[in-house]
Amino acid sequence: MLSNLRLLVLENPTADFVMDGLEQIEKRRLINWYERSTQRSEELKTVLDAFLWCCTDGEYAADLGDSGAFTPVFKKKADELGITTEMLLSLFFSHDALFGDLNAIPQRADIDAPLFIVFEGLDGSGKSTQINMLRDRLKQMGRRACVTAEPTSSATGGLIRDALSNNYKRTPSEMAALFLIDRISHNVNPVWGIKKLLNEGMDVISDRYYYSSFAYQGMGTDLEWIMDMNLRCPDILRPDLCIYLDVNPARSRSRLAGDRTHLEIFENDESVMEETRKRFLDVFKKLNVDENICVIDANRPINVVADEIFNIVSQYCKK
Ligand code: ADP
Repeated sequence: MLSNLRLLVLENPTADFVMDGLEQIEKRRLINWYERSTQRSEELKTVLDAFLWCCTDGEYAADLGDSGAFTPVFKKKADELGITTEMLLSLFFSHDALFGDLNAIPQRADIDAPLFIVFEGLDGSGKSTQINMLRDRLKQMGRRACVTAEPTSSATGGLIRDALSNNYKRTPSEMAALFLIDRISHNVNPVWGIKKLLNEGMDVISDRYYYSSFAYQGMGTDLEWIMDMNLRCPDILRPDLCIYLDVNPARSRSRLAGDRTHLEIFENDESVMEETRKRFLDVFKKLNVDENICVIDANRPINVVADEIFNIVSQYCKK
């Protein structure tokens, strides 16, 4: 039974915090919970689905507070699962009790507001390396953290990837528009969107965001137009913090050459990389009044860069 629950949780890529919680729940308590639940439903899969939903979307719906908004969401899910709304509500309250007194699991009220952090930098600047290190450190602090990236895995993300690998040529304006659509999905997708993850209490760390559109597409089309449509779009969140990993283009290119057999269109030419770096820095000057942007010298060893990033992010955690 426990392993079925694990499998179900593993199938849901945004639920790794549930997995963390499960590691610490005594098997006995989980089985008691399940036995209580099965008095009302014979179906293991239904109960497990309900459990997982209670831990994710159910908690989000409950956070809406007033029952006017909360009950229809539970009713819709109960219909989908083929159980009564009362039973789903009762599962919801018992799932909460299951996590109840486990000190090792951070409780919702103890968790600082979730953070939305963006990493930017040239390819090869160390974004993936640093993002993974930061995510692990945030988790060690007891926070829930997850990583997203642009382009996303959406259909529009696929069109962007085709253009980046030069399989299909697009103008800079087309690229800017495609990135905008993909970024809106990145924010609002009901399963993996940034807003959903933040609402669940997760810190979200994104590998690239609108600053990349400004730096890359801003070179070939009207920068003000791109900034306007991104910054004024009501569905696109402003990050709490943007960390720019600043590397010398020759160095980032040599790091990439070590890793890849094939370079994307923006990675081929060192002078284009130098120009892109300048564009990033210019855009940051324009935005710095309204946004928290940190430029980090990422030419240094991995651990030195990681420590500096963690020091900065820790200050935001205490806000
Ligand atoms: P990005 O995601 O920005 O393209 P990666 O994190 O994939 O960059 O790093 C590209 C390569 O450079 C990887 O092989 C990585 O191990 C290496 N690397 C990353 N940061 C550093 C660093 N500070 N010093 C030396 N090598 C690094």
